[in-house]
Amino acid sequence: MASSLTKDSASTPGGEKTFFGHPRGMATLFMTEMWERFSWYGMRGILVLYLVAGVLDGPLAGREALAASIYGVYNAVVYMAAMPGGWIADRLWGARKAVLVGGIVIALGHYTLAIPSDAAFFAGLALIAAGTGLLKPNISAMVGGLYEGQSSARRDAGFTLFYMAINIGGMAAPLVVGYLGENVDWHLGFAVAGIGMTLAVVQYVLGGRHLGDIGKQPGTPATPEEKRTVLRKVLLWTGIAVAALLADIVLGTYDVEHIVNVLAVLGIAVPVIYFISMFRNPALTAQDRPKIQAFVWFFATAVLFWMIYDQSGSLLTLFADGKTDRMIGGWEFPASWYQSVNPAMVIVLAPVFAALWVKLAQRNREPSTPMKFALAMLLIGGSFAIMGLAGAAAANSDTGKVTVFWLLSVYLVQTIGEMCLSPVGLSLSTKLAPKQFVGQIMGLWFLATATGNALNGWTTKLNKPLGDALYYSLWAVIAVAAGLTFMMAGRKIRALMGDVK
Ligand code: GLN
Repeated sequence: MASSLTKDSASTPGGEKTFFGHPRGMATLFMTEMWERFSWYGMRGILVLYLVAGVLDGPLAGREALAASIYGVYNAVVYMAAMPGGWIADRLWGARKAVLVGGIVIALGHYTLAIPSDAAFFAGLALIAAGTGLLKPNISAMVGGLYEGQSSARRDAGFTLFYMAINIGGMAAPLVVGYLGENVDWHLGFAVAGIGMTLAVVQYVLGGRHLGDIGKQPGTPATPEEKRTVLRKVLLWTGIAVAALLADIVLGTYDVEHIVNVLAVLGIAVPVIYFISMFRNPALTAQDRPKIQAFVWFFATAVLFWMIYDQSGSLLTLFADGKTDRMIGGWEFPASWYQSVNPAMVIVLAPVFAALWVKLAQRNREPSTPMKFALAMLLIGGSFAIMGLAGAAAANSDTGKVTVFWLLSVYLVQTIGEMCLSPVGLSLSTKLAPKQFVGQIMGLWFLATATGNALNGWTTKLNKPLGDALYYSLWAVIAVAAGLTFMMAGRKIRALMGDVK
């Protein structure tokens, strides 16, 4: 892909304009996702700070703990929403409409957050979760659609480009929205995130003509009977959830911990139930069945990867805040700026890795996808081994603080791991998914992040009693063990993948 990025051919042999050598429709999806991620990461960057400063009551320590919990739970909810979002595209609307509606709902969510009231705040978060569930899995599935019938390497390259869009938005957001939110006004920060999303929707509509028929129709339209059954189930489970919550509140036993626990259980139960029902689905052909079995392996690894990786938003940020020396000259830079470090590294490293895979492929030495996942696990384990050392160094230092280079190296190793797993996983999901399930398989891919984050709510609690050095080293051992297991299972997984590379 590096060559296609640098030597931007202006048009295909057929005369159609290209985007850095990729289908022109990529430009539309690139811009939409860039602004969507800008709004998401911008809002997320100031969420905890705003909760502590402007929404929650009580002593600071309590507010901080609660804000961190809400943050984790909210992340899980948003990524979990990708499941129904994928279903709606596959069975009801098609991806094209799901992304459009999702984008509008997200923009409305940010504008709602811009209204200074507690009720508006929670309504805004709910709108953003619903909208992201509709947009995120389906826009990724549409990227796959642009490469229908093209080589696996080209599809991977397309997803690398798309991944850069994600991270350009992700890098700029904390700087712009974070600055405005923290230094000028929280609500202005949220409003700017909304403007970003509005721009995305406008250019998505205008650029729609470049997308051909991609995502215009649902893969397998649901029958009226199926729609009725799903509606009944949704109403039943929503009713049960609301009744349980009301009972909890009325009995005076309500605690946000209950929601954290329910979500952690759901995070495990939902994928298990979903995979079982997919295997039982008569629409799944004998040819596709092993591919879904292979996907289960990738899914489980991704859960562990994101479970470790996403601690950067919570524990590592607290480490940045309390145990890292952030002075440059006489000025202490904000801890939240660390949130731009990883996307910045991705922007630099994504094309490097894409080029590396191509070079290795030319020599027939490109690691297989299972091998890349195994490497990702070894690297994420390695990053937490460094964190363990950083924790020990902070505990032994006179000031209780370590240099910024510890966290920078942790993020560098994590980002290299991310390059081996995240864009690869996006592309792989579209390749392994039977056509009628593509939105749902993308939803499952993001559910891995949800499950990882939901489980985080429990595991990060071990940090305090174990202490940094032991806590992080323990994760390092678990991740490395998982990486080695995956490596050993590689041959078996490749056999299940069949013709998918
Ligand atoms: N940072 C990437 C994004 O926002 C990956 C997130 C994920 O899949 N967990 O899309």
